[in-house]
Amino acid sequence: MPCPCHSTIMYHKCCQPFHKGEPAPDALKLMRSRYAAYALGLSDYIMDTTHPDNPHYEADRNKWRSDLDQFAARSHFDGLRIREFSPDPKDPDRAEVTFTAHMRQDSQIAAMTEVSSFVRQKGRWLYRDGRFI
Ligand SMILES: [Zn+2]
Repeated sequence: MPCPCHSTIMYHKCCQPFHKGEPAPDALKLMRSRYAAYALGLSDYIMDTTHPDNPHYEADRNKWRSDLDQFAARSHFDGLRIREFSPDPKDPDRAEVTFTAHMRQDSQIAAMTEVSSFVRQKGRWLYRDGRFI
């Protein structure tokens, strides 16, 4: 199947290796794989790639998983457009990705543009936080 991150690449050649445990080589691929994970309802992947300092980080994994599962169940992930990928020129373990995600929720259509920041720890990129623009 085509990858749910809307790359037009097949899932097994795009985000699936990351969902299976391979570290994403850069923050952009990590970001795309998180979008695909939302679309596929891979809540554990979302949790595992969220930095503990993220405001949505939840220590209670069962509660968090159930929140994510509910969000995924009522949402459709219709499109992803990457607007900018900005690796930090001074720090190879930091990067920002600006993207617009198209979604539907309970028949409401929404597009949100976010600047996400990512940090690499122990060879793994993590979603640190995001701000809507
Ligand atoms: Zn993908």
